[in-house]
Amino acid sequence: MAVSALAGLAAELPDGVVVTDPDILASYRHDRAADPAAGMPLAVVRPTRTEEVQTVLRWASANRVAVVPRGAGTGLSGGATAVDGGIVLSTEKMRDITVDPVTRTAVVQPGLLNAEVKKVVAEHGLWYPPDPSSYEICSIGGNIATNAGGLCCVKYGVTTDYVLGLQVVLADGTAVRLGGPRLKDVAGLSLTKLFVGSEGTLGVVTEVTLRLLPPQPSACTVVATFDSVEAAAGAVVEITGRIRPSMLEFMDSVAINAVEDKLRMGLDRSAAAMMVAASDDRGPAGAEDAEYMARVFTEAGATECFSTSDPAEGEAFVAARRFAIPAVEAKGSLLLEDVGVPLPALAELVGGVAKIAADRDLTISVIAHAGDGNTHPLIVFDPADAAMTERAEKAFGEIMDLAVSLGGTITGEHGVGRLKKPWLAGQLGPEAMELNRRIKAALDPDGILNPGAAI
Ligand SMILES: Cc1cc2nc3c(=O)[nH]c(=O)nc-3n(C[C@H](O)[C@H](O)[C@H](O)COP(=O)(O)OP(=O)(O)OC[C@H]3O[C@@H](n4cnc5c(N)ncnc54)[C@H](O)[C@@H]3O)c2cc1C
Repeated sequence: MAVSALAGLAAELPDGVVVTDPDILASYRHDRAADPAAGMPLAVVRPTRTEEVQTVLRWASANRVAVVPRGAGTGLSGGATAVDGGIVLSTEKMRDITVDPVTRTAVVQPGLLNAEVKKVVAEHGLWYPPDPSSYEICSIGGNIATNAGGLCCVKYGVTTDYVLGLQVVLADGTAVRLGGPRLKDVAGLSLTKLFVGSEGTLGVVTEVTLRLLPPQPSACTVVATFDSVEAAAGAVVEITGRIRPSMLEFMDSVAINAVEDKLRMGLDRSAAAMMVAASDDRGPAGAEDAEYMARVFTEAGATECFSTSDPAEGEAFVAARRFAIPAVEAKGSLLLEDVGVPLPALAELVGGVAKIAADRDLTISVIAHAGDGNTHPLIVFDPADAAMTERAEKAFGEIMDLAVSLGGTITGEHGVGRLKKPWLAGQLGPEAMELNRRIKAALDPDGILNPGAAI
């Protein structure tokens, strides 16, 4: 039925929007989580305008066909995994942007990459802060749908803090405008925020109004190595209790060595942990914060500590941190965790992950947006080794259980997607879980939007 109805959808849309070439369909089955349970979509639809997205959703609603929204497919939790017989609605061709320097806002279509938004607004002397490590390859729509975080978020906040307005197409094809270029606006329920982080389960974001800032001042960077991860984690709590660094990132020895294998930049291979911290406060305050962080690192037992106000030198270490996931990926397939805890529990979380790695005889590298208490334990495994795969899957669950037991979350920024869904109820509890379900049912009664993901 859906196959024959598809011709009707194709006829309603401009030529080429509906794609059914099997090779192309296959390339849209997975995001970066490479979920083995991914289905084969009926079609990939690549609209350019909100009205075309409305047409797709009206058709999908009428024919009860699942729609999986997709940005750039860099998601790490299976949120954009295709479902059998469904539509993958890719926003990659929705790429308009208009910048208004007076209100310091930009109206952006979802398919533009985060780095492209940053570049265009910089041409107007403005800055869009959220900076996931994947900023060069992920879309702004995907960032909104996952409420993406990043490296500067410890000071500047996450994606939702920059979303003033949205246009969203609902499951039945209705387009709604929420919020707008107003810094203060409390009319009605906070529906704009409801859609941020909703992982494509409540509507398709077709336009976003972003809040922009003046350009970021250049930063003083401090890099320190430690012979114990607990010492590094202790320094994080000390620093965040006193100042607001613009970056406070952590890499363990596996990540340091994996990055050094690839980049050969002289990182200390013998270190148990490396911190990359920065302050971008203006004038002498930035240098004072950097000095303070260097002092805390040294007193916490840093084996080496190095500060620089040279932006290029600082950026080299930031790039090393950003490169950690691809570098560790060279060691094998990854099950990628994203657990977070309140900051005082950071050392216990990192120590607990090391214990899980030892108990399960696995390599688990930990990198972290440490200042946010948000860690990414990277579980390395060989999918051809069934026993190892099973141990890795067990460790994946144990790490989430550990985080929840420490008052934390199963996901700080990547989203629940499909891979983490079995653990969601354990974190939220029955009442909050039921509330999530009621909201989903109110907005998408037939359950056609991203079924199986997130809620
Ligand atoms: C090397 C690497 C480093 C990363 N580092 C970070 C990091 O530091 N911080 C971080 O937060 N993430 C990080 N990520 C994860 C990923 O890049 C983010 O989750 C990103 O926001 C996903 O954007 P995307 O365009 O690729 O979305 P996709 O993967 O295509 O989709 C993600 C989710 O959003 C939904 N979606 C996409 N577009 C829309 C839309 N227009 N309307 C409604 N729903 C939509 C999808 O259905 C899916 O549920 C990293 C990924 C990689 C590969």
